[in-house]
Amino acid sequence: MFLMRLVILLVIVAILLWLLKRVFSSEPEPEQLESTKPENMRQCKYCGVHVPESSILLVKDEPYCCQQHADLDQQ
Ligand SMILES: [Zn+2]
Repeated sequence: MFLMRLVILLVIVAILLWLLKRVFSSEPEPEQLESTKPENMRQCKYCGVHVPESSILLVKDEPYCCQQHADLDQQ
């Protein structure tokens, strides 16, 4: 009856692995939702182009799309 026990053990291990996989694969979902969340857009003070808030360049509290436009506007 050793083989029977081995098969039962393998089935139990397989179920446990499947459950673990389900737990781990369901976790990254909230992160994916966050990354697709619309980002706040800011307008470049110099050229008026819309840039996501994370990549905007702030010079003296004014938003710019790039260093060049910041330099041109601050002159
Ligand atoms: Zn600009």
